[in-house]
Amino acid sequence: MNAPLPPLREVIARHGLSASKALGQNFLFDEHLLDRIAAIPGPLHGRDVLEIGPGPGGLTRALLRAGARVTAIEMDRRCLPALAEVEAAFPRQLTVIQGDALKIDPATLFDGPYAIVANLPYNVGTALFTGWLSGEAWPPQWSSLTLMFQEEVARRIVSTPDTSAYGRLAVLAQWRSRAKLAMKVHRSAFTPPPKVMSAIVHVEPEPALEGVSMRMLERVTEAAFGQRRKMLRQSLKGVPGALDALESLGIDAQRRAETLTVAEFVSVAKVLS
Ligand code: SAM
Repeated sequence: MNAPLPPLREVIARHGLSASKALGQNFLFDEHLLDRIAAIPGPLHGRDVLEIGPGPGGLTRALLRAGARVTAIEMDRRCLPALAEVEAAFPRQLTVIQGDALKIDPATLFDGPYAIVANLPYNVGTALFTGWLSGEAWPPQWSSLTLMFQEEVARRIVSTPDTSAYGRLAVLAQWRSRAKLAMKVHRSAFTPPPKVMSAIVHVEPEPALEGVSMRMLERVTEAAFGQRRKMLRQSLKGVPGALDALESLGIDAQRRAETLTVAEFVSVAKVLS
C-alpha cells in the first residue's frame, strides 16, 4: 500500500506553485477526471509511460495509480519538490527529468515501447505532436499518444474531408495512424480555467503504405492547403510532377484540397516519392 498523498490543492499551496502563464500552466485537480484520462491509453499496469509537463503531479498520480512506470519531463523547477513526494509515494515507479521536452529525445529514455500522455501548453503540444508524427521510421517507438489540446485543434486533428477543420494536421495525424477524439474537458476543470474548451485526442499508429516519403506528403499538403480555396491545378502548380500524378490517379485537378481524402493525398505523394 502506498503512503497517502495530500490533496493537490494543498501541495500547490505548500510549494507556492502559483500557475505560470508563460509556462502555460492550467492544472487539473479532480482525481476522478484524472483517472478517466489515465484510462484512455488502455490498461497501463507494468507499461512505460512518458508524461510531458507533470506540473504538481495530478495526472502523474493517476498514471501511477493505474500501475504505469512513468518517466516525466517537467520544465518548471518549482514543481520538483512536489514531484519528489509523488516519487516517494510510488517507489520505483516514477522518474522525473527536469528540462525542456522540445529538446529531449525520448528514444534516449526507453529501450522498448512507451505510451505518451500529456496535458501541455498548446504551442508546445502541437510542436511535439507534429514531431512525433513526422518520423521517417514507422511504426514509431511510442505505442500511443494521449494528448490534451484546445478543442478547436483536437477537432482539426480528427477532422474529415469537406469540413473547414480539415487540413494538414488531419492528413498528418491520419495517414498512418488512427486518431480519435477521446474526451472533451470543460474549461472549468482547470485551475486557472483557460479561455477555451479542451479535448483529448488519442492516436495509435497503423501500418504505413510502403514507398511514401513523409517529406513529399508534407510538400503536397502544404501546397494544396496553402491555397485551400483554389483548385488543385493552381495550388499544386509549383510541385514538380504533381499535376501529372493527379491525372495518372484519375483525380480531377479542378477539385480543391479539402475534398481530397487522406488516402488520395497519400497516393499523390506516393507517385511523387
Ligand atoms: N499535468 C499537469 C496537470 O494536468 O495538472 C500540468 C499541466 S500544465 C497545462 C502544463 C505543464 O507543462 C506545466 O507544468 C508546465 O510547466 C509544463 N511545461 C511547459 N512547457 C514545457 C516544456 N517545453 N517541457 C516540459 N514541460 C513543459
